[in-house]
Amino acid sequence: MTSASYDTGVIQTAAQAYAFIQPNGATNAGFIVSEEGVLVIDSLMTPALATRLLSEIRRVSKAPIRYLVDTHYHGDHVFGNQYFVPAPIIGHVNCRQELIEKFDANMNRYTSGRPELIPELEQIRMTLPDVTFEDRMNIRLGDREINLIYLGRAHSAGDILLHLPQEGLLYAGDIAFHRILPAFPDGHITKWLDVMEETRKLDFDTIVPGHGPVGTKREFDEAKELMAHLHGEIRRGFDQGQSEEETAQGVDLGKFTSYLGQERIGQITQMAYRAYRGDLE
Ligand SMILES: [Zn+2]
Repeated sequence: MTSASYDTGVIQTAAQAYAFIQPNGATNAGFIVSEEGVLVIDSLMTPALATRLLSEIRRVSKAPIRYLVDTHYHGDHVFGNQYFVPAPIIGHVNCRQELIEKFDANMNRYTSGRPELIPELEQIRMTLPDVTFEDRMNIRLGDREINLIYLGRAHSAGDILLHLPQEGLLYAGDIAFHRILPAFPDGHITKWLDVMEETRKLDFDTIVPGHGPVGTKREFDEAKELMAHLHGEIRRGFDQGQSEEETAQGVDLGKFTSYLGQERIGQITQMAYRAYRGDLE
């Protein structure tokens, strides 16, 4: 498997549990099925993608959509929320807050440089999580237990994990990027590393990342190793008093040079500098 090619589409991750995996590191989603209804994990970005996800779900189950869970506030994960109403939308309290406060920036991030998306994104109305929590929430879906867990600031201020302990299955949202450099519009590099350390203590064999292929703990450990490597490379430049540009140009990806998303190094460096300076909460 190369970084750019991996299994995509609907992939079964456990009995009656699925991932919807997009190619080239685009945004993933998931869904868990029961006779009582379907729990959907992230609604994707555009009307076309949300509708596609819904039709993929309908190929597996005709049960009603029982819950939608937003893993965090970024538009590529939640702009499709309105297509899942009236299901309750569950998210971290900070996810709701960031979706409100940063709505315009969240929208502009996807339309700038991609005018072809504007007609689709103009259809998006702010549709917020209406059920929020702070640390943990437990959902029973049929005889299944689903734990929603917040471990702190990481890729955003409101990233949550969905853990199915009986199945050893974890939906990690953008806490995990597999075979692609992490996106950092809101990332706090050292806190994200702490959250990854806590995440790996959970009992799981299968992990669905926010971007990239379904993996195991090994892929998650690689993602964590990459984050630690980026932190080491950037922190060295910071400690030597180099400018952000000098540091970004000097980042050596080492064993991760085949990964997608290398255009993100500038943004990662900029946000890491802000974290080191204490400019990020
Ligand atoms: Zn994100």
